[in-house]
Amino acid sequence: MAQRVAQSDGGNKKATRVRVAVRLRPYMSKPDEKDEGPCVRGLDSQNLEIVNWRNATETVKYHFDAFHGEQTTQQEVFLSSVKPILPHILKGQNASVFAYGPTGAGKTHTMMGSSEQPGVIPRAVREVFNLVKAEDEGWDYSIGMSYLEIYNEKVLDLLSPNSQDLPIREDRDKNILIPGLTHMTISSFSDFDKHFVPASLNRTTASTKLNQRSSRSHAVLLIKVVRTQRILPHRQQTGKLYLVDLAGSEDNRRTGNQGIRLKESGAINLSLFTLSKVVDSLNSGTAVRVPYRDSKLTRLLQDSLGGSAHSVMITNIAPEYKYYFDTFSALNFAAKSKLIVNKPFTRETMAVPTLPVKRGRDEHEAQGSGTQPQKKRQKEERKTEQDGSSPSSHIHSPSEPSVMDRLIALEKLMMSCQEKDRLGMLKDVAQSRKEIQELKEKQKEFESKAMLFSRLGGEKSSAKQEPAFKNNIAPLQRKQLTASKPNKQQAVVQPLQVSQLQPLQQLAVVKKQSVCVKRKERKLSDQVEPPDGKENIMDSGWESQVDNSMLEQSRQKILQVLNTGSLKELKGLQQIGDKKAKLILGWREIHGHFTKLEDLGKVEGMTEKRFSTFMKANILSAMGK
Ligand code: ADP
Ligand code: MG
Repeated sequence: MAQRVAQSDGGNKKATRVRVAVRLRPYMSKPDEKDEGPCVRGLDSQNLEIVNWRNATETVKYHFDAFHGEQTTQQEVFLSSVKPILPHILKGQNASVFAYGPTGAGKTHTMMGSSEQPGVIPRAVREVFNLVKAEDEGWDYSIGMSYLEIYNEKVLDLLSPNSQDLPIREDRDKNILIPGLTHMTISSFSDFDKHFVPASLNRTTASTKLNQRSSRSHAVLLIKVVRTQRILPHRQQTGKLYLVDLAGSEDNRRTGNQGIRLKESGAINLSLFTLSKVVDSLNSGTAVRVPYRDSKLTRLLQDSLGGSAHSVMITNIAPEYKYYFDTFSALNFAAKSKLIVNKPFTRETMAVPTLPVKRGRDEHEAQGSGTQPQKKRQKEERKTEQDGSSPSSHIHSPSEPSVMDRLIALEKLMMSCQEKDRLGMLKDVAQSRKEIQELKEKQKEFESKAMLFSRLGGEKSSAKQEPAFKNNIAPLQRKQLTASKPNKQQAVVQPLQVSQLQPLQQLAVVKKQSVCVKRKERKLSDQVEPPDGKENIMDSGWESQVDNSMLEQSRQKILQVLNTGSLKELKGLQQIGDKKAKLILGWREIHGHFTKLEDLGKVEGMTEKRFSTFMKANILSAMGK
C-alpha cells in the first residue's frame, strides 16, 4: 500500500525556512522612454542595494540567500537555486519553487523561459528524469504531472480547460489533494512538453482575451514522483514538486479597475498576502500558527512549503525606476534583513525619490500636507491610472504622492511583520525607559514628601528616625537603576510604606485636630502642613458644609470607581483625563485596590493640590451640587 515516509508527512514539526533568491533582470529601456538609469543594483552574490526613497543620500542594502544579477544565465539560476532540492523529490519529500515579483520583472522568463533560454520548469523536469535514470536498482519510479491555475481564488485545471473550480482537500496523512484534477503520467521530457506547452498556450490565449489574466493568476505545475520498492513489502513513497509562476505582486488597486478586475485584484492580493504571511511565519519561526488555510494558494502548497519540504522563492525584480515601488515592496517581502547605508545611489538618480527628509510616518500627514498643486497632481495621476490597462504600463515613480503614502503604509506593515522581533525589543526598551523615568519622578516626589515629613517630625521624633528613613530610601535608588521589571514594581512600593511612617502621620493629625474636629478621616495632604508655613493648599472649607453621611457615601462611590472602574468610567470622574485614568489603572495593576481615597495621592502626578481639587469636584458632583 502507498505510504508516505516520515519526513514528508509532517512528522517533523519544525518548519524549515524558505530560501529566498533575488533575480534582477537586465535594464530594458524603450526608445520613447527617458533613460533614468537603474534604481537598484547588485553588490555581490547575496547583497543588493536600492536607492532609499526616504533619503536620497542613502541606499537600502538587502541581504538574501542568493542574488542573481542581470548577467546571470538561466542555467546558473537553475544550478544554484533549484537543482539542489530536486533529489529530495525522489526520496518521498516535497518541494516548491515559486517566482514572485511584479509583472514584467521576469517571473515567466525565470520559470518557463523560451526555447532558446529554457527556464526552471523545463530544466527541473529534465533533471528529475535524469535523476530517476541514475537511481539505484530496487525501486520502480513513476512520474506524473498536473497543471492548474488559481484565478480569483478558483482552482482551474489547465490540462482540462473546461473544468470548474476544484476543491482542495487534506487526507488523513495531511497530504493535500485536489480530487478531480487531471494527473498525467509522463514517460519522458518530450512527453511532458507535449502536454505542458499547449496547456500553457491555453493560459496565454486566455490572458490576451481576459485582460492580462496570466499576470493575475497563479500557474501551478505539479510534478509527482512515486517510487515503489520492487521487493516486499513494496514500500511506496511519493514526492511532490510544485513549480509556481505567481501572479504579479504589483498593487492592482492602483490601476483603478472596476468590477471583475477589482475582484481579481482582491483575490490576487489575498493569495499573495497570505503567501507573504506564511513565508514570514516560516522564516521568522515565531508564529504559532502558519496561516496556510487563509488562501487557496497557500492551502494547496501547505504540504510542500515549510514543514519538512524544501522551498525556494525566486523574487524577480526589474531595475527601471518605473518599477521602483513594486521592487521596493517585493524586496521587503523577501528580505531576510536590510540595512540603510549612508551613501547616495548614483548622482543622476538622487533627485527622483526625493522626499522631505523629516516626513512623518503618519498617513494623515502624508495626505494632509497636500497643497493645491499636489492635489492636482494626485488628480492627474488618478486620471492616467484610469486610462491605463496593464499594471506594467503605469509609471511607478516614487515621487508620486500616492506612492509615498503606500510606501509609508508598507513600511508600517513591515514594521509589524518582518521586524517584529526588533520592534518588540524596541518596545521593551521604550517601556523600560518610561518606567525608569516614572520611577525617577516618583522618587523625587517621595523625597520631597519625606523631606516634608522629616521637617515636621523633626521637632518631636527622635533623632534616630531620620537615618532609619534614609536607609530605606537608598536601596530604592539602586533598584531603580538596575532592577528588572518585577523588582522595579517593588521598588515603587517601598518608599510609599516609608512615607506612611506612623509617628509622622500621627504628629500631623495632632497638629490639625484642633482646627477641624468634625472630619472622621483625614487626608494625607490635610495632615501635612506646607513646608513654607503658608496657608494650607487644601481648600478645606467646602467639606464642612456638606452632610457627613452624604459625604461618606460620595467618598465610597468615588472609591468604588477608582477600584473597579474601566478606563472610560475613570475618565468619567471629574479632573481625570485619559492620562490620569491610565495611571490609575496602572497603579491598580501593581498595587491592587485603593483602601482609601487618600491612596490616590500615591498615583503619579497626583499632587496634594490636585487631589484636593479632585475630591472637591467629585464629591460635589456625586452630590449633584
Ligand atoms: P513577468 O512574468 O514577471 O511578468 P516576464 O518573464 O514576462 O515577466 O518578463 C518580461 C520581459 O522581460 C520579457 O520580455 C522577458 O523576456 C524579459 N526578461 C525577463 N527576465 C529576463 C532576463 N533575465 N534576461 C533577459 N530578458 C528577460
Ligand atoms: Mg508572467
